[in-house]
Amino acid sequence: MSFASGSLRPLWVSILLIATASTPSAFAGEELLPELKVNFLALKNYRPADVSKVHAAAELIERTVNSSEFREAVLSFTFKGARRFNDNNGLTNEEIYRKLREGNELLLGRTDYTADFDLQLYVPRFWQSRNVIGYTNPDEMRIYVNRRFFEKFTIAEIAANMIHEWTHKLGFGHTYERTPDRPYSVPYGVGRLIQELGPDLLDGGPAISEAH
Ligand SMILES: [Zn+2]
Repeated sequence: MSFASGSLRPLWVSILLIATASTPSAFAGEELLPELKVNFLALKNYRPADVSKVHAAAELIERTVNSSEFREAVLSFTFKGARRFNDNNGLTNEEIYRKLREGNELLLGRTDYTADFDLQLYVPRFWQSRNVIGYTNPDEMRIYVNRRFFEKFTIAEIAANMIHEWTHKLGFGHTYERTPDRPYSVPYGVGRLIQELGPDLLDGGPAISEAH
């Protein structure tokens, strides 16, 4: 749905816009949130072509997380018939959305509206699994990305993996085992939203926010 902006907007369009604005998605103070920016603290072992790819993924993350489509998708996220995420740390969808926008990583402890990424590409050694896309540890900002996947992944898949690992930095987890409920955790759920919504938003130019 898109409307041309301008002062000659017919009445029925205005009524539709009001209807859009009054969905349960709006919550107090939301409109005051600055846009989330992606920042790279480090890009270790990234060659020039890798840097281009990861920058494109960062742009996809910014476009998507700041879009009205993403907001709607997070706020209406449903797990087992209720509007919630699995493994949500006791937070509502609204609170999770706010956390994603605020960018307050546990280890940095600052609400700077910035997703800070410390990334390192690695080639699995013989003792490491070749099938792990990426991993991180709770006591460090660094996120390790398997070059094997990075090279064959689309921009959207790279972005989804980045946001997955980054939500761990915000304190969200998931089961280690591949259970039926795991895709509804914050890391997997938000990762999937980025992958699904991102490509259209990137191709379609600036996201149209009609309700504000
Ligand atoms: Zn994970």
